Amino acid sequence: MTIGHTARRRHALRLSFEFFPPRNEEADRQLWETITALTPYAPDFVSVTYGAGGSTRAPTLAAVDRIISDTPLSAAAHLTCVGATKEEVNAVVEEFRAVGVRHFVALRGDPASGLGAAYQPHPGGYANAAELTAGLRAIDDFEVSVSAYPEKHPESLDVSADIDMLKRKVDAGATRALTQFFFDNVLYERYLERVRAAGIDIPIVPGILPVHNLAQVQKFSGLCGATVPQWLADRLEPLDGRPDDRAMVAAELAARQVEGLIGLGIDEFHFYTMNRSALVSSVLDQVGFKRQENAERPKAAGAAA
Ligand code: FAD
Repeated sequence: MTIGHTARRRHALRLSFEFFPPRNEEADRQLWETITALTPYAPDFVSVTYGAGGSTRAPTLAAVDRIISDTPLSAAAHLTCVGATKEEVNAVVEEFRAVGVRHFVALRGDPASGLGAAYQPHPGGYANAAELTAGLRAIDDFEVSVSAYPEKHPESLDVSADIDMLKRKVDAGATRALTQFFFDNVLYERYLERVRAAGIDIPIVPGILPVHNLAQVQKFSGLCGATVPQWLADRLEPLDGRPDDRAMVAAELAARQVEGLIGLGIDEFHFYTMNRSALVSSVLDQVGFKRQENAERPKAAGAAA
């Protein structure tokens, strides 16, 4: 029966949640509230971003360390190549490995001088994410996820160049790609067709961004290889002064996007949480994803083991 079939498929959905490292006590509190609220969704893994040039090395390490020691979650550390020699990057890998990290999200990173500037690899460093992936795999049998861009990376000449780079990352040992966020599923669908036609068979996990702040997303999207469609702006802009209604609509739109992708046979999703749980929870609840209420709760900071 259709309902039973759908329920079974939903139960089989696989999730990952992306966080960024907190920069102060208030942000740390918010991150841990978010992790606590999202733990019952039993994600396959959560990941913590890494500031280009190692600018967040310590807070990324601290967050990943605490997730591994204080929660039942599996944590992946993002890592970039920017502004560092291979030896320096490898030393960071060792620090992550020492706290139990077995999974990295390997990235080239944005130019040190900011998004939009020309990228200059460090003369003694990993030149791009494919080289970093190979470097990680040479150190240990790490799981390596990488990026993918359904609307192409802004620096790529065209989608083919982008898919060539993805292929190089897979050949170097990456076993999963997490996409940049996108809002029109047809872009993902077309991209996936081209990726599969290129002989790449790893999961291309759609990155879902429930929109907390439209202006911020619009500003960032031009620089990072994603477009914000007019229909999305038309739905959210009129609600600018009504945060509760805006959140409700933002969650509904993201839930509809996830539903559409489930309809295409996709069963794995990466959520850009922005370190907030409400919209992500609402999306998952709307698509009928079951929480596991008996999931172990993260320990309070400083609690005895
Ligand atoms: P690559 O995979 O190496 O390259 C991406 C594309 O750009 C390729 O298709 C390639 O064709 C093209 N390209 C690369 N270099 C050049 C060049 N020199 N000339 C022409 N074309 C080129 N950034 C962070 O700083 N920290 C993070 O934690 C982080 N996490 C991310 C997580 C995800 C899921 C995604 C999608 C992105 C993330 N980013 C992060 C952003 C990422 O670092 C930037 O998009 C960066 O510009 C490219 O890194 P990459 O690993 O995608 O590059």
